[in-house]
Amino acid sequence: MSKLYFRYAAMNAGKSTALLQVAHNYEERGLRVLLFTAAHDDRVGNGQIGSRLGLVRPAATFGPDTAFERERLEQLAGCPLACLLFDEAQFLSPDQVRQLHRMAHLQQLPVICWGLRSDFRGEAFAGAATLLTLADDVEEMKTICACARKATMNLRIDAQGRRVQQGEQVVIGGNERYRAVCPACFYADDAGTVAPGLFG
Ligand SMILES: [Zn+2]
Repeated sequence: MSKLYFRYAAMNAGKSTALLQVAHNYEERGLRVLLFTAAHDDRVGNGQIGSRLGLVRPAATFGPDTAFERERLEQLAGCPLACLLFDEAQFLSPDQVRQLHRMAHLQQLPVICWGLRSDFRGEAFAGAATLLTLADDVEEMKTICACARKATMNLRIDAQGRRVQQGEQVVIGGNERYRAVCPACFYADDAGTVAPGLFG
């Protein structure tokens, strides 16, 4: 039985690296996969998934109006697909997550999503909240805060390294604009004071 999987983590936990490894594992067995990333993600250029270890691969992009249906996706890929892999899955709409869940179960196509759970204010991304609700298999990828505790939240910082606490949920400025932190550091920094070492 095919499933919808959600692998969530804070920033810089290696989500894109994990996705590229899974793609490689499928292809090594002669199976084809389709990679997707959010259309606005220009960290490594539109339509690419890049890991911080240096691997980069082209990817299809999804926007708010992208519809997911197995037959159309296999036309896009030009071959039968064994799996769909999504990077930046927090940017899927709740409706799109529902389509993917339905597709996994009714059209027997597994879907693996990697993404953030919460934004820089500690609020849920709508896509992540729906994935946490519907995914058949949910797993946290772990990463650490500068204080050595487990990092589960994300800070946004400006070009001068100061914390930003207000603004749009999505600002595409590259990974250097975010820090994965533990909840203690996230809240300790509420007043604007920055924990030693966090931005070192
Ligand atoms: Zn910490």
